[in-house]
Amino acid sequence: MLPFKLIYSDAYYLPIGEHVFPAEKYRRIRDRLLASGVAEAKDFLEPKPADDQDILLVHTQEYVHKLKTGTLSPREEMELEVPFSLELVKAFWLAAGGSILAAQHALAERVSVNIGGGFHHAFPDHGEGFCMIHDVAVAIRRLQRDGKIRTAMTVDCDVHQGNGTAVIFAAKRAPGDPLPSASGSPLTTQGVRRKNANAGDVFTISLHQHNNYPMWKPPSSIDVDLPDCIGDDDYLAWLDNALSSGLRQSQPDLLCYLAGADPYKEDQLGGLSLTIEGLKKRDELVFRVAQARNIPVMVTFAGGYAQNVEDTVTIHCNTVVAAKEVFAADK
Ligand SMILES: [Zn+2]
Repeated sequence: MLPFKLIYSDAYYLPIGEHVFPAEKYRRIRDRLLASGVAEAKDFLEPKPADDQDILLVHTQEYVHKLKTGTLSPREEMELEVPFSLELVKAFWLAAGGSILAAQHALAERVSVNIGGGFHHAFPDHGEGFCMIHDVAVAIRRLQRDGKIRTAMTVDCDVHQGNGTAVIFAAKRAPGDPLPSASGSPLTTQGVRRKNANAGDVFTISLHQHNNYPMWKPPSSIDVDLPDCIGDDDYLAWLDNALSSGLRQSQPDLLCYLAGADPYKEDQLGGLSLTIEGLKKRDELVFRVAQARNIPVMVTFAGGYAQNVEDTVTIHCNTVVAAKEVFAADK
């Protein structure tokens, strides 16, 4: 039995038909974890959909109304890049409920994994890039509202920049801080862009490929713009650096790790060159850093579009294995 909970529902499946997003990956991950003996049936908890009140902690009333009544404009539907349906809305409400449950269990058991979620391209008033509802932001705001946490940190290792995350948590800037702009600030020679010392109550870190979606990258607290084709060793060094820097600047009560599988060298939507082994080392690094500082970790899976969907499943399962290896020693 795992020393932590996995949050999963068959209804995480996204009804989007033939699509580059492998909507069946969640079920396959659950099946593989069970078949390989990494997890047992009782390690899994079934989430409930988030309440509208939880969703409204992050998203606007107008956007939520449009989603629930199926009245997005054609342009708004197009921006989502997945076919809209009321069933899809339900799946996103459930993913947000799953991330809330994972965050609650992370506080109790040091770590918890939502076998889903990580929809970091959702904004308060619109969705894009396959993301309708920002489940991680909803979970953070709900736990803050409940008085369970005051501060949080997002560590986004999806190959695509966490633009929704950056915008949602940029709201609490110190007076005089610049608002996110379309131009951003210039790259330094080290490739690290835009450090905002006053990032508010949620400190956001994003490691991503510079030459990739989204075109406009609103500033996170720390953005690491990686060059194309970066491999395991360089990636791990940048991640180590960003985590150290972030944890010098903030003391989060909860770390939300977006363990995207798409920095993988054979990803269809990514241009980095990490191996499956390198991605597991990445997971171990995040978990070890959090464990050493006694920061609870909530994990979501975000993207993953490997040529072979089995590789995506392996990478996500390895995140659970890494958590087991790092946190089992704790108990
Ligand atoms: Zn991605």
